[in-house]
Amino acid sequence: MAKTINTVTGTISTDKLGVTLMHEHLLVGWAGWELDCKAPRFDRKVAMRGAVDRLKELKDLGVNTFLDPCPNDIGRDVVFMAEAADQSGMNIICTTGLYKEDLGNTVYMKQRSADEIAEIYVTELTEGIGETGIKASLIKAATGKDHITEYEEKCLRAAARAAKKTGVPITTHTDDGTMGPEQLDIFESEGVDFKKVIIGHSCGSANLAYHTRMLDRGCYLGFDRFGLDFLHPDRLRLASLIGLLGVGFEKQIVLSHDSVACILGRGLGLPPEVMELIKNWKPTHIFKNILPKLREAGVPEQKINTMMVENPRRYFEA
Ligand SMILES: [Zn+2]
Repeated sequence: MAKTINTVTGTISTDKLGVTLMHEHLLVGWAGWELDCKAPRFDRKVAMRGAVDRLKELKDLGVNTFLDPCPNDIGRDVVFMAEAADQSGMNIICTTGLYKEDLGNTVYMKQRSADEIAEIYVTELTEGIGETGIKASLIKAATGKDHITEYEEKCLRAAARAAKKTGVPITTHTDDGTMGPEQLDIFESEGVDFKKVIIGHSCGSANLAYHTRMLDRGCYLGFDRFGLDFLHPDRLRLASLIGLLGVGFEKQIVLSHDSVACILGRGLGLPPEVMELIKNWKPTHIFKNILPKLREAGVPEQKINTMMVENPRRYFEA
């Protein structure tokens, strides 16, 4: 049944979400970027123009909703998101949550308990973020490669508790296709319903046993880093996706790119040969290059629609 959820510019009925990109970013900045006087100055107007152009291009491709799961501690700017939504006509959804330990801004939050962090999340979901009045619609949680730190486990538990209290879903970050099942174990111990969980960046592994181990427990998987070929090649993401769709998992997969319209500070700082590898890392890539490849592989239109429209809706309605 349709449900009303928050966007950065007001509420929306889930039956109006339409084609939804479940993991893209407008602005990202690692803690401390503003201390770098040698970095390019952040020009808000230029960044806004870039973001709005990107969103308008997506609108032209039929995208209705853009979910930006930027955690609170890596440059989340919900006022920027709201302005971009207003100017482009895109529905934008934001999250509350904290990033993984190695790239997050952790000093203060390490001293807080899981319940204190959960209270912060609940406030941002129900009352709003700072003085903006803008409310988050879901919770972000994150882990690094191959193990979950004590801090990350605390944040996962906080996410679980806030989700249970408010009924909102959770979306996660994983590194290199690891720790997804362990994230589920922590959520399970807190009593979270897996119908409200996306294990993000699961396309970082091409191991189908890794994928089915999680899918069999009822969660969603994010195949949400298309275009990030230097982390894991698109052809492996595609091969896994086509395989999983072939055996009927289309109701549990969402597609996205984890693109970033503007990176604060010096940007990614990657050498030119790596930049060449990510030339397709834009939020239009799925529509221009990936969906045609799925069709070529015989994936029916209805399964594509399930991933792009029905799954985001069902996830928010669960
Ligand atoms: Zn992301």
